[in-house]
Amino acid sequence: MEQKKKVVIIGGGITGISAAFYLQKKVKEKELPVDIYLIEAKPRLGGKIETVQRNGFTIERGPDSFLERKKSAQQLVKDVGLESELVNNSVGQSYIFARDRLHPIPEGAVMGIPTNILPFLTSSLFSLSGKLRAAGDFVLPAKEVKGDQSLGQFFRRRFGDEVVEHLIEPLLSGIYAGDIDQLSLMSTFPHFYEMEQKHRSLIFGLKKSMPRKNQKQPNKKKGIFQTVKTGLQSIVKAVENRFDEVHVKKGIKVTEIERLEKGYRLHLSDGSVLEADSLIISTGHQAIPSMFKEQGASFTYLKNMPATSVATVAMAFPEDVIKSSTKGTGFVIARNSGFTITACTWTHKKWPHTAPKGKALLRAYVGKAGDEAIVEQSDEIIVKTVLDDLNRIMRIEGKPEFSVVSRLMNSMPQYLVGHNEKIKEIRDKMATTYPGVYLTGSSFEGLGIPDCIDQGKQAVRDVLQFLRLH
Ligand SMILES: Cc1cc2nc3c(=O)[nH]c(=O)nc-3n(C[C@H](O)[C@H](O)[C@H](O)COP(=O)(O)OP(=O)(O)OC[C@H]3O[C@@H](n4cnc5c(N)ncnc54)[C@H](O)[C@@H]3O)c2cc1C
Repeated sequence: MEQKKKVVIIGGGITGISAAFYLQKKVKEKELPVDIYLIEAKPRLGGKIETVQRNGFTIERGPDSFLERKKSAQQLVKDVGLESELVNNSVGQSYIFARDRLHPIPEGAVMGIPTNILPFLTSSLFSLSGKLRAAGDFVLPAKEVKGDQSLGQFFRRRFGDEVVEHLIEPLLSGIYAGDIDQLSLMSTFPHFYEMEQKHRSLIFGLKKSMPRKNQKQPNKKKGIFQTVKTGLQSIVKAVENRFDEVHVKKGIKVTEIERLEKGYRLHLSDGSVLEADSLIISTGHQAIPSMFKEQGASFTYLKNMPATSVATVAMAFPEDVIKSSTKGTGFVIARNSGFTITACTWTHKKWPHTAPKGKALLRAYVGKAGDEAIVEQSDEIIVKTVLDDLNRIMRIEGKPEFSVVSRLMNSMPQYLVGHNEKIKEIRDKMATTYPGVYLTGSSFEGLGIPDCIDQGKQAVRDVLQFLRLH
């Protein structure tokens, strides 16, 4: 009988559970001699994904949806039988708070880059000189940069500071909770660099790359994000329910990884040990260096890689206490506007299934690179700060019926300039010092849920190739 290989996946966030799920699928389909273990430090799987059901509300503590365009999340939902639960967000106006008031995001702006010129020209978000400077994108030459550059450098050069600070920065910071003057272009939006090289103008390049309008249903708009009606955690549960050939250990941490002559020995926090032929590590970068006591690989970059702490603050209200004059789905706040909150989603408008009829659900965000102290405050202080901020922007005539404050400490890995090369160096070194060990997940090649699933799937291919079982 062929000796079974043992694959251990460390970390049960979306990356780890996707890896376990797709590895199990392959093992079953091809009848591969593989035992799969999944080890998660917390008592539950899902990592940053966590849904709270309360008084008829569906509240996401962390992520609330995924991009439909990147297919792997939707595919996972289908693979676990939840397709009928998929919903797209309602399309509505979203806003930017800048220059002391809310401004509608100009129609056609993609990550803040205009694709429709008229709404941009007539927007109250920018001064005339800001608009003229942004038009420089049509004439400025492409700049070839060896290696990487910051998002800030790149966009400031093409559109000028004003458009960056009033539109592009708040939108990008909303995704990365980071400082765009430090974040890497090549690890976040490499296609914008390629677009510049190919078309020179980003406006022109983006317009060319946009899908043509559906002639049959020209006005039927569907949101670009998806979730499942019972919340993202039900995807995690559905995956877990299908783990009939994955040995899941929850509430147990991997404390040390020891290299043996052949394979690895894992020391676990319950005092037990587990041997493995190959490992997928999807714990987030902070946990990695301390697991490798004999530092064969240099983890200096991972040790120093920052991650921002954020908190989400969900607040439930009777709908009639919200006296906002604006119709839409929420807003983001331009840096230096003097607010603690960075954004607020009118969740009951964007995702109507999340609140009972007649109720409103607002979800605000606090914490950004360089301004994270608020996340450490008590729930009471955070909720009061959020309400004070919101009341400077909209009118809320009443207290929330309840609120759910979720702190996600060091949860937003910051891909600084040069990130891709550093990760490649670490992986190259790992291939010789720790063969068969694969580092993956949100600290590496994209932090969106579909990016994490794609990385989990790639790690499965790497492991099977290493074990010569592909
Ligand atoms: C507030 C917020 C909102 C977001 N919104 C969105 C969104 O709307 N859409 C989107 O696509 N993305 C969003 N993201 C990003 C996305 O949620 C994350 O990038 C993704 O969920 C990370 O998954 P992961 O598996 O890589 O890591 P994690 O979810 O962090 O999982 C890692 C797991 O490893 C475990 N672990 C750590 N150390 C050990 C150890 N030694 N032994 C065993 N286990 C260990 C941890 O307990 C954890 O469960 C958001 C992120 C945040 C913080």
